[in-house]
Amino acid sequence: MSKKPTLTTSAGAPVPTNETTLTAGEHGPSLLQDYQLLEKLAHQNRERIPERAVHAKGWGAQGKFTVTHDITQYTCADMFSEIGKETEVLSRWSTVAGESGAADTERDVRGFSLKFYTEQGNWDMVGNNTPVFFVRDAYKFPDFIRTQKRHPKTNLRSPEAMFDFWAAQPESVHQVTILMSDRGIPTSPMHMNGYGSHTFSMYNDKGERFWVKFHFKTQQGHKHYTNEESEALIGKTREAYQETLYNAIDEGSFPKWTLFIQVMPETEAGKQNYNPFDVTKVWPHDDYPLIEVGELEMNKNPDNYFQMVENAAYSPSNIVPGISFSPDKMLQARIFSYADAHRYRLGTHYEALPANAPKNAKVNHYHKDGSMRFFTNDFDNADAYYEPNQHNGPVADESVKEPPLRINGDADRYKQETEEADFVQPRALFEMFSSEQKQRMYANYAAAMGPCSDEVKERWYAVLKRVHPEYEAGVRKANEKLDTDVNTVPITDNTPLEDK
Ligand code: NDP
Repeated sequence: MSKKPTLTTSAGAPVPTNETTLTAGEHGPSLLQDYQLLEKLAHQNRERIPERAVHAKGWGAQGKFTVTHDITQYTCADMFSEIGKETEVLSRWSTVAGESGAADTERDVRGFSLKFYTEQGNWDMVGNNTPVFFVRDAYKFPDFIRTQKRHPKTNLRSPEAMFDFWAAQPESVHQVTILMSDRGIPTSPMHMNGYGSHTFSMYNDKGERFWVKFHFKTQQGHKHYTNEESEALIGKTREAYQETLYNAIDEGSFPKWTLFIQVMPETEAGKQNYNPFDVTKVWPHDDYPLIEVGELEMNKNPDNYFQMVENAAYSPSNIVPGISFSPDKMLQARIFSYADAHRYRLGTHYEALPANAPKNAKVNHYHKDGSMRFFTNDFDNADAYYEPNQHNGPVADESVKEPPLRINGDADRYKQETEEADFVQPRALFEMFSSEQKQRMYANYAAAMGPCSDEVKERWYAVLKRVHPEYEAGVRKANEKLDTDVNTVPITDNTPLEDK
């Protein structure tokens, strides 16, 4: 057996014991100079960092993306430059509302984030398992999140707040329909799709821009838990996703997704009967067919979860030449708010952490100092610490300038009123559901809305009615049935279990 390494202080000095405190006499007291003990205790106090305000509970893996189809007519992004090209990827999937100890299989939207370590820097695809979002204007984002978190007085999640807010934002009905449908509780991250959700853009080497949507379709098939199955599972384990995902990868059963894009020529935007930059809308496949691009395979469990998954910092601001933004108001706000969340949570230099540092591109910037400046100058000449300089410091490369974003219109605060277009797509989705799927959705609604006041319920029914009268009637009936069922159960029930 090889000799075990020597235990050291964090400064590298060998330590004589990891068991006995230095004391004055056999029975103490302890001496302050036992620095190794003090450091051990101090480290324990600092092992947790602030958890994410949203998407706190997550599961991740490492893997690769392989190009299978040529899309160079749309993008000059290096990672899509040739068929067969592989790019390293770090994924993180998550629930949105629950804290870091929450059960994995709660009904919620799932985050679906991918960091592609391309040769032109990191591209972050910070998506969800749904193609749309609850609100389309970033002013509503913090309020929406507040309704998903705990009530300030009760410290409980508040269905009243959730449905009060949604009823006041009827465009949310598209996302809420998906959330309440079978897809609201995937059985694992492997059994769900990932979507960029926002409209992004791509541009090619001729400077032509295209609006683009990203779809990662699961090759494992969609699998979902009913509320009852999920409740039974949570009674046994709160870590079902971590167990399933970790074990699958450990056993060599690597989950895969196929990447498709939808492409809209730049000048076509505005010709639809919906706003293509509104994240509460999809682009119908018939209008913008899916174009196959490549395959994502996650094939390695990170050696250290905290280092690679808890410290992973995804931000839609991380784009690379050939991929860019769109006028989507929610995307524009996330460009700021995600990077800022990481500065707060991980520190000024979060992008230099192993999970976030580019693996295949050299980092050359002039950002200086700050907490945890643990890396050296990225270029050789220490005199080049400002720009412009005469010391051969890094300079910008005009060749990667993206084509101009053509924007028309006056600067103003444009309110997009709720209109018929907000109900067309949820209606199309509702009409796709089988009658069994509808019944399960109604029951899911009843479970979620049960504690809401009648006033809030009525306001939400009014929204559902605009989607489809059958939808409203189904949810109303399920709620009324639940009320009747609940009313037959005594509110105070002290009967011993064995007598029941
Ligand atoms: P299509 O028939 O071409 O596509 C229907 C889409 O619905 C498929 O992508 C399918 O995903 C997805 N789907 C099936 N069941 C559910 C569910 N319970 N929750 C969420 N998505 C589901 O029709 P359209 O493109 O015209 O879209 C019709 C409606 O489908 C839309 O209004 C939208 O609500 C929904 N949808 C559309 C998407 C799009 O990008 N066009 C994407 C996802 C949903 P899969 O193939 O993986 O089974």
